Amino acid sequence: MLDGTLLGGALSRLDEAARHIAIDPDVIERLKFARETTKARLMIRMDDGSRKSFLAWRCRYDDTRGPTKGGIRFHPDATAEEVETLAFWMTMKCAVMDLPYGGGKGAVQIDPHALSKAELERLSRAYVQAFARVIGPDRDIPAPDVYTNPMIMGWMADEYAIIRGEPVPAVITGKPIALGGSLGRGDATARGGYYLVNHLAGQLGLGAGMRVAVQGFGNAGQYVARLLADDGHRVVAVSDSRGAVACDAGFDVARLLALKAVGKSVTAMANEPGVRKISEAELIAADCDLLVPAALENMIDGANAGSIRAKVVLELANGPVTPEGDRVLDAKGVVVLPDILANAGGVTVSYFEWVQNRQGYYWTLEDIHSRLQAIMEREGARVWAISREKAVSARTAAYIHALKRLAAAIEAHGTQQFFVG
Ligand code: NAD
Repeated sequence: MLDGTLLGGALSRLDEAARHIAIDPDVIERLKFARETTKARLMIRMDDGSRKSFLAWRCRYDDTRGPTKGGIRFHPDATAEEVETLAFWMTMKCAVMDLPYGGGKGAVQIDPHALSKAELERLSRAYVQAFARVIGPDRDIPAPDVYTNPMIMGWMADEYAIIRGEPVPAVITGKPIALGGSLGRGDATARGGYYLVNHLAGQLGLGAGMRVAVQGFGNAGQYVARLLADDGHRVVAVSDSRGAVACDAGFDVARLLALKAVGKSVTAMANEPGVRKISEAELIAADCDLLVPAALENMIDGANAGSIRAKVVLELANGPVTPEGDRVLDAKGVVVLPDILANAGGVTVSYFEWVQNRQGYYWTLEDIHSRLQAIMEREGARVWAISREKAVSARTAAYIHALKRLAAAIEAHGTQQFFVG
């Protein structure tokens, strides 16, 4: 990355996009810094009676286009810089999709697998206690991210309701249906990427019977594997944090899902006929048409991008390809459908959930799917058109698209605005 940091690499995409359009430098300057990042130490009671504390953050990166929106990650490697980078990406993503939001993000530096369910609930409630003044349905609206889920969102919504003295379902999205969650939120990230690939398949040279490799078999990875397999495509390689496996004939995706549902790794398939264990590097280099990174940041870089054989990379994860990785893939002619577009189905259905909570009127699954499909196709086609017209990568095109919307909103706010921080 340009200045060697995750955020520096992310911001370099902004500079690259700005080279292709006439844009006020003030706009770029404003988007280079998070508006507000709050740090807290969450102290919780463990089941054995001891107390432990964990670092936590909430970042509101930019709220020019509306309240900030973004998930909460529970991960041992979480840092303030990662949170700010993810919040920056959310800012760009909401602008690409024309959602009335700015970008936010949160995290707790913890391995949630090491906690009991009761400890996890106490941690989730402690997060909301620490950040109740920062979040709010018109200010900053969290959602799930890596190693957080609807159950955790339910506890958080409940804690916020206790603090406010009334239910405020629109404060958080990705909630259980019983607490005002939306139909269709579970598979929204994957489904958005799936609609995008289907819509652009002709231009991307993809067709029936694609071979697909999925890195990271969690929420996003599992659902995309299922949607693609249901259409007759072959999922030939998958991985999770415990390893990777390949099956040239195509996995029985239902079996993989069943393994994950009982807490096992995809590597439990390794002894099945036709399945072999592979390395993470072999998964990246799998002989496939579509590679779907759906795990974490920086998985594809200048060192391993050259090994990629896929025609198209669908970034369901945030930031899986580094700027150096991008340059290698561009030179090879591999199309990267960028995170700020490809995985935006999740925040789009989160937006639908927020709208439904505020209306108090709930939509059918068909409504959700058709509205999501329409937005993915509309913005996907616009990004693709910019990429053709300006002869730039789909990533640069998505940043151009987002920047124009952000610039219009920054200008509309007035030019004498300043931050009090
Ligand atoms: P998740 O926790 O459900 O799944 C993450 C998966 O990645 C797990 O299966 C884990 O085992 C695997 N993993 C971790 N480290 C790995 C490694 N080194 N190699 C291979 N696999 C590894 O998380 P998720 O919600 O599916 O999120 C995955 C990515 O998608 C993240 O980058 C997240 O920010 C992004 N994303 C998620 C959503 C959403 O709605 N869930 C929306 C937009 C973007």
